[in-house]
Amino acid sequence: MSQILTSSQVVAHMANGQEMSVPIYQIKGSANGPKVYIQANMHGAEVQGNAVIYQLLEQLKQLDCYGDITLVPLANPIGTNQKSGEFTLGRFDPITGTNWNRGYHFNPSLPAEFAAQYPDLEQGEIVARFRQLIISDLDARLSNPYGLNTAQHLCANLQRMAFEADIVLDLHTGPISSRHLYCPEYAKERAVLFDIPHTMFIPSDFDGALDEAAFCPWWQLQLAYQAQGREIDVAIDAFTLELGSQEWLCLEEAKKDCHSVLSYLSHQKVIEPGLFSPSKMTRYACYLNDYRALYAPKSGLVEYLVPFGEEVKAGQPLARILRMDRYGHDDAVELVYAPADCIPILHFASASVNQGTELYKVFTNYFTL
Ligand SMILES: [Zn+2]
Repeated sequence: MSQILTSSQVVAHMANGQEMSVPIYQIKGSANGPKVYIQANMHGAEVQGNAVIYQLLEQLKQLDCYGDITLVPLANPIGTNQKSGEFTLGRFDPITGTNWNRGYHFNPSLPAEFAAQYPDLEQGEIVARFRQLIISDLDARLSNPYGLNTAQHLCANLQRMAFEADIVLDLHTGPISSRHLYCPEYAKERAVLFDIPHTMFIPSDFDGALDEAAFCPWWQLQLAYQAQGREIDVAIDAFTLELGSQEWLCLEEAKKDCHSVLSYLSHQKVIEPGLFSPSKMTRYACYLNDYRALYAPKSGLVEYLVPFGEEVKAGQPLARILRMDRYGHDDAVELVYAPADCIPILHFASASVNQGTELYKVFTNYFTL
């Protein structure tokens, strides 16, 4: 049995003086197991991760947790409340237009400087000291005399909690989407621990997302030591889990994703090893460069024709575009074809598109794990 401690943290201050905060649920580990940070709903419409955190809390309170676990649902209170008509917006900061999941911080000079300063430190000391370094760097950012924008403030507050952890899981969804996983290349063997049939392997580049902000310092530290002729482990695992579609909540489906996360945590000895194990399924993967967007070649109304997760051959139709202003002409209904053999992973959330709208995202050059 584990006790769940409840608290909250202010992450934003609004114009009327009101403070916006996130709820925090914490379990203190009974042993010295890996520390875990799990957050959900950074994008306002992507609510399913909250249901997964609910199911995780239901399970974890009955288990012996070896490591500290911090769970933060509703991670973006501004985005969650950003409604227009029937829909939640909440993907972009309305002031700057920036994607909320691009405001995290990475200081690219720290890994090489640290490796040069401490060439012979043993791994345990490296982890302790480098963690302190990146945390104080983040604290310095928070007290930057020039200030931070709203998204950077929110992200830095969340990242401050994530930096304490050895394992970071960021729960998202696609627009209309199948389950898929963003997995750093160094953690390839662990992609099969999740019950997620599609995995993208991502490089060590930083583009502002939480998973990258969590693993980039440590991965680049490994590369910096490698350049000095020394092999060290990447101390942190960080993944983004895409758990289906936005504007969709299902507590039953969340049980499956809860099991999936517990299989991974069990393997990583956060909870008893062997207590949960991954389901048998065919798992497909591709490298990030082969995860391709297909943009609408023309504008109109869209009928999406193919189910997610199934292999589509080059030349097979993916969508039909209807132009009612062209009724009676040959181009009133036109098909959009797959440019290569691919697996559709997600499509645009709306049934009407401009020319150039991202229609589908697909795996190409994929392989099985
Ligand atoms: Zn998202």
